[in-house]
Amino acid sequence: RLITAQKLSSHEEAQERALRPKVLDEYVGQEKARGQLQIFIEAAKKRGEALDHVLLFGPPGLGKTTLAHIVARELGVNLRQTSGPVLERAGDLAALLTNLEPHDVLFIDEIHRLSPVVEEILYPALEDFQLDIMIGEGPAARSVKLDLPPFTLVGATTRAGMLTNPLRDRFGIVARLEFYTPQELTRIVERSAALLEVKIVPEGAFEIARRSRGTPRIANRLLRRVRDYAEVRADGVVTRETADAALSMLDVDHAGLDVMDRKLLGAVIDKFDGGPVGLDNVAAAIGEAADTIEDVLEPYLIQQGLLQRTPRGRVATLAAYRHFGLEPRGAGGL
Ligand code: ADP
Repeated sequence: RLITAQKLSSHEEAQERALRPKVLDEYVGQEKARGQLQIFIEAAKKRGEALDHVLLFGPPGLGKTTLAHIVARELGVNLRQTSGPVLERAGDLAALLTNLEPHDVLFIDEIHRLSPVVEEILYPALEDFQLDIMIGEGPAARSVKLDLPPFTLVGATTRAGMLTNPLRDRFGIVARLEFYTPQELTRIVERSAALLEVKIVPEGAFEIARRSRGTPRIANRLLRRVRDYAEVRADGVVTRETADAALSMLDVDHAGLDVMDRKLLGAVIDKFDGGPVGLDNVAAAIGEAADTIEDVLEPYLIQQGLLQRTPRGRVATLAAYRHFGLEPRGAGGL
């Protein structure tokens, strides 16, 4: 699925790295998160202390990893990167923590997927910079306390609600990343086009931007595909017309919805009379994991006012019916 906001491959990861803004000033949009971090980073540097722990949350592709790297760079320290599911045993985390230099950034992606044993040893590390681990087994086992250098944990998650309370409470700075406006995404597309040496006119950049589900990762991915199309079918210049033709070929419709978005909305409308319908029923109807629906598909549809989450389930809005050129019927069509 082209338009999924999740990362596709290690090849794509390398391409993304090349487009990543390196300093806070290059980071487009997210005024609130950026403003907060700017002040806290400067204050921490002035005091010669480690920055407070930072939790970044928001749908995939909005710039959490990018921001973590920028934080480390602005602080002038190293960044060590890992992710929740990778840290299986307490020892994995202990090895990372004991290798940190003072004030370093430890970035844990998908932090809501940490195992409970790993989370347990993270608490004292975050609070007192102390590591409390058991060495050995059976009667010979003993607990060892180690002092750690002061460090900053930057945690990223798609849903803050999935963090345990004690973990969430240990973050001094919590920033929510929002979907980008078409104008912000236009700036991102134009910046990426310059880096990739793609010839693009402003209307071409805007067309890609407004059909990218508010997400920089998708905007950059669509830019690469539109460039291919422009090189083969046109004279290599990305105009509004070439962008439109390429995006239609990729099944990205005029509102920027892709096949899965339309399948989800279509199922709620056709199979469940517009809802309300429970998440598991929708998941079964379209053959997609409930987690993916909740983390990747729904946030944008909700933000666009096409879908609503109600206590009784998902409901297609009037705008969703209009999107398909339909008249609302049944309970749906709020
Ligand atoms: P996440 O970690 O939230 O899934 P990433 O930080 O990996 O998202 O961002 C995906 C891509 O989008 C990056 O390669 C980067 O080029 C681009 N990007 C994200 N946020 C911004 C931004 N604010 N300005 C410019 N480009 C951005």
